[in-house]
Amino acid sequence: MLKGRNIRRRSGGVPAPALLMSAWLLAAVLAPGLLPAAELASGTKWATPYFIVEGPAPGPTIMLTGGLHGDEPAGAHAAEQIRHWPILRGRIVVLPRANRPGLAAGTRHLPQVAAPGQDLNRNFPRSGGGAEAQTVIGQAIWELTRREKPDWVIDLHEGYHFHQIQSKSVGSTILASRPGDQRTRPVVTRMLAAVNATIEDPRKQFVPLRGTANGSLTRAAAERLGANCLILETTTREQPLSLRTRQHRLMVRTLFQDIGMLGEGAPTMTRPREELGLRVALYDAGGVGGSGPRNVLEVMKKIPRSLTWRVGPSDIREGALTHFDVVIFPGGSGSKQAAALGVEGRRQVRTFVEQGGGFVGICAGAYLAAANYKWSLKIGDYKTFCEARDIPGAGRKSMWYRGPSSTVRMELTSEGRRILGDRVGAFPVRYHNGPIVSPAGFDEIPDYQVLAWFRSEVVRYEPQTGTMVNTPAIITGSFGQGRVLSISPHPESSRDLRAMVARGIQWACGK
Ligand SMILES: [Zn+2]
Repeated sequence: MLKGRNIRRRSGGVPAPALLMSAWLLAAVLAPGLLPAAELASGTKWATPYFIVEGPAPGPTIMLTGGLHGDEPAGAHAAEQIRHWPILRGRIVVLPRANRPGLAAGTRHLPQVAAPGQDLNRNFPRSGGGAEAQTVIGQAIWELTRREKPDWVIDLHEGYHFHQIQSKSVGSTILASRPGDQRTRPVVTRMLAAVNATIEDPRKQFVPLRGTANGSLTRAAAERLGANCLILETTTREQPLSLRTRQHRLMVRTLFQDIGMLGEGAPTMTRPREELGLRVALYDAGGVGGSGPRNVLEVMKKIPRSLTWRVGPSDIREGALTHFDVVIFPGGSGSKQAAALGVEGRRQVRTFVEQGGGFVGICAGAYLAAANYKWSLKIGDYKTFCEARDIPGAGRKSMWYRGPSSTVRMELTSEGRRILGDRVGAFPVRYHNGPIVSPAGFDEIPDYQVLAWFRSEVVRYEPQTGTMVNTPAIITGSFGQGRVLSISPHPESSRDLRAMVARGIQWACGK
């Protein structure tokens, strides 16, 4: 039986049975199908929320867990997104961040826990062993599992390499727990087909495996509770988080469709249920450079009641932007971002802004919004200084390239101070080949406003001299009903400029 102190509503100390009773009643009043969040291991450093979502009709119970290993973030993100799906029947019990301290630290194990309890996914009752789980959080998860009696336990993980290329890793596999793996085989085949249809390289496709580790949640739930148990493993190697998260969602969607919990055309990403101040889609896929998304997430910490989900080209083509207030394209390569989006993805971004969505482009993202490239979005009335020139002794060089990352000076205009925060005078900001912009003169797009000027410049080749200093560093304009904010340098990578970027993001979405 569950102890009242281990599991209670966030708002108070209501014990578990009372929670379920009142939650049933509350669900009808608050939001259809949504029960309030509860918490496992309350009052301890392992405290972590879980969610129970009820469909409108009876049906199976699915338990969905993510983040048992803290260095496998995709499962946590996917579970968090799946809990917003409008299921047609049954119920889902979602524990997105099982090892919350590990996820915060990026470590596989439970931080500061010694062997043998350190690996949360070896904490559960072992084959032929006792009935007890190990560690505070392991026991809380096992109690929840026993109480909910799930028909299915789906545990989301990540491997470090593609199993078909490096057989020592379980990356890109579905592991079925025994016993019950015979029962789950047909749907596993369909889950594999669904995800593999999106993966071109056959060696990176998902394959089935049988048997899960002794002490794992899925093995214990299969052996002791008779649940159908699967571990879904994506591969972290060289794949953006948005892609891995999407692969988890694709596989889970197929299962849900198979057992009548979702309809045929159900999208893999849906609008978050909670009322939020700001919903941000952060593009992290093709054409995005190393630290860009991480720095933007630091900026987002400054905006209360905001939510940031990573998106990739497939999410955008699926129409996912409509769930958000603003989309952010960070640094990297504008042309590669455009290529990854494809024609349909670019059309979706333009339509999103045209219909009132916000667009924030930083460096590469500012190139992406420009008007002068065949591949660019043409949502800002500006062109970039990028033509090629003959450089004596060096050959023909593109003028957008000014060398490695450096520091320049930037000064806000009075409009910039109003929108981005009152900062007087020039100050340093990181710069890495962001666009040098000038009006494109498109009649159909309103003129941009300058929010900041470059007050110094970086020059690699002689013809660049004088072309950057006193040109716009940050501009904003409107496109249809939406706002476009184009930032040439990288203020998001400086701790003291992040509040400024946060104000810019809020401006872009009109809030
Ligand atoms: Zn794992």
